[in-house]
Amino acid sequence: MKETCDFIVIGAGIVGLATAREIQSRRPDARVVVLEKEAEVAIHQTGHNSGVIHAGVYYAPGSLKADFCRRGVDATIRFCTEHQIPVEQCGKLLVATTPLELERMDALEERCRQNKLDPIRLDEKELKAREPNVVGLGALFVKTTGIVDYVAMSRTLARLVVEHGGEVRTNSEVQGIVERDDGVEVKTADRVLRAKHLVVCAGLQADRMARMAGLDVDFQIVPFRGEYYRLNKRHNDVVKHLIYPIPDPDLPFLGVHLTRMIDGSVTVGPNAVLGFAREGYRKTQINLRDVLDMLRFPGFWAVMRKNLRSGINEFRNSLSKARYLELCRKYCPSLEVSDLEPYPAGIRAQAVLRDGTLVHDFLIKQTKRTLHVCNAPSPAATSALPIAEHIADQLLGEQSGEERKEALRSAG
Ligand SMILES: Cc1cc2nc3c(=O)[nH]c(=O)nc-3n(C[C@H](O)[C@H](O)[C@H](O)COP(=O)(O)OP(=O)(O)OC[C@H]3O[C@@H](n4cnc5c(N)ncnc54)[C@H](O)[C@@H]3O)c2cc1C
Repeated sequence: MKETCDFIVIGAGIVGLATAREIQSRRPDARVVVLEKEAEVAIHQTGHNSGVIHAGVYYAPGSLKADFCRRGVDATIRFCTEHQIPVEQCGKLLVATTPLELERMDALEERCRQNKLDPIRLDEKELKAREPNVVGLGALFVKTTGIVDYVAMSRTLARLVVEHGGEVRTNSEVQGIVERDDGVEVKTADRVLRAKHLVVCAGLQADRMARMAGLDVDFQIVPFRGEYYRLNKRHNDVVKHLIYPIPDPDLPFLGVHLTRMIDGSVTVGPNAVLGFAREGYRKTQINLRDVLDMLRFPGFWAVMRKNLRSGINEFRNSLSKARYLELCRKYCPSLEVSDLEPYPAGIRAQAVLRDGTLVHDFLIKQTKRTLHVCNAPSPAATSALPIAEHIADQLLGEQSGEERKEALRSAG
């Protein structure tokens, strides 16, 4: 069966759904179809994360991450307030527990200022006063960090897409993409859909979808599991803010943190362990195709060589609950192993280049008729609304602020 529309978006995670909605708001008469292989929206990264609205502390000034994350904070809070989705700006404390971390904290404070954040520096006593259960030599308080439920946001975006005449088709795995001069053809199990433009927001499958569309891509997605525990509910008030360690600048992930979730619970995590299945959430799950793709990719071996010591450490912490807890007891010593309860893991889609460089920034590639979001790791949930605006600018040409407001007003 063949049918036509104006825009196809592959992937109903938060980035794909925000993009579909943004295109619709700028082109109210266009037919937009979102294709999602799972039975529901937001099943993968968007449904397995920390639920943090990142303020934009860490990112290289001038990067897409720094820009989109900063704009994403306000955009996310505005969207959630407008659509009655619970959201809270509880603030975050980056806690230094050693003299080395205090030094790193100075660099982080400077980075915050470069990113136009206004962190408050706390000494040991001030930290204790704010968080009686947390110990450290000092901390940075970033008040704009918040928490939200990204699944709720995605479901709302999907509902808006449908209410405005679009479609979100679940159980629709894309199996083929052909780009022509005048449009694209996208094949699922039961039909071929033609459109003028295609946007691919496929997360953990981004590299495969780009290759399927004929792009000559020089990166591969390497999955990194992020494992969590939930604290027993008697600890729901153990902290008032989100508590993060000072990250090691040589490592790409933020370190195990204590996260107040929007449902009132507190999670511990995530770590960063190499995954053997891109979409397998159990610790023991292995996907042969994913493993073979990884082993054949020179970039994977280069990453392993560069990060061998930290990789082994992460594995050991993953296997032992007690070792894992130590990462957190550094700054919250009252927690016991028996306080940790099971909580589902997430899997990060991390783009890696052939030489083993981890791609830190968001990466978008465009051809005449297609646009691929190739790398959208954290804070892409925070940044989804500005990413969507950027994609729409690329596809449709930039809009002025006034035009954007007018389009949103007329789209309701
Ligand atoms: C452990 C962890 C913690 C994180 N914490 C945070 C946080 O606190 N704050 C934050 O801002 N970010 C966080 N992130 C990052 C954030 O979750 C992701 O960056 C974001 O969700 C990416 O959204 P996405 O739409 O690009 O990808 P996804 O949510 O993964 O969606 C991609 C979709 O594409 C679909 N798809 C793939 N292939 C096909 C195909 N062939 N046909 C049809 N559909 C297809 C998939 O099924 C999936 O639904 C975290 C991520 C992880 C893993």
